[in-house]
Amino acid sequence: MAPETHLLLSWIIAAKTTDNPRDCQLVTLAGILPDVDGLGLLVDFATEGLGLKQTHLYGEYHHYLLHGALGGILIAALLTSFARHRWRVALLALLVFHLHLLCDFVGSRGPSPADFWPIYYWGPFTQNPMWIWKGQLRLDGWFNRYFSASLFLWSLWLAVSLGHSVLGVFSRRADRVFVGVLRKWHDELAKRIQRQA
Ligand SMILES: [Zn+2]
Repeated sequence: MAPETHLLLSWIIAAKTTDNPRDCQLVTLAGILPDVDGLGLLVDFATEGLGLKQTHLYGEYHHYLLHGALGGILIAALLTSFARHRWRVALLALLVFHLHLLCDFVGSRGPSPADFWPIYYWGPFTQNPMWIWKGQLRLDGWFNRYFSASLFLWSLWLAVSLGHSVLGVFSRRADRVFVGVLRKWHDELAKRIQRQA
């Protein structure tokens, strides 16, 4: 699935299961870090744009380096080392990481009908077994769009009730401003509804 979908889903789980901002941030990161192995796309664009020898790092390494057991262990170990509640973050990071794999397995097909993105759980050591689902949903299809939109609305609702949002993963300051605005809108809407009732 798309990075923003992974981000929202991971944050919702993290926000519901952790009790401090740092652990929430770390568990959320466990759900988006697997896609670091897709950053070769930037190099591919650069080599193409600059007229250099064309690279295909995205096709070669995305879903192969960090979308398996090794990626899960590395990411969970890295994040756990910064955690307040280490065991909780370790378990949640592994859970969220594997949810990322499941979401990719279900919904990361490219635009053409044969553009499947398998999961290589033992990558980058071997391509066997290759987990692939022939019904894999399109990344830009209706399901992914509605799923992402639903997660976005849910994350806004949680932000109002919990007092922090997905923005807090990147900036606490921006998060405070954003949640302040959201709560103001929510209160105004609630007052308007009360007046009309
Ligand atoms: Zn992925």
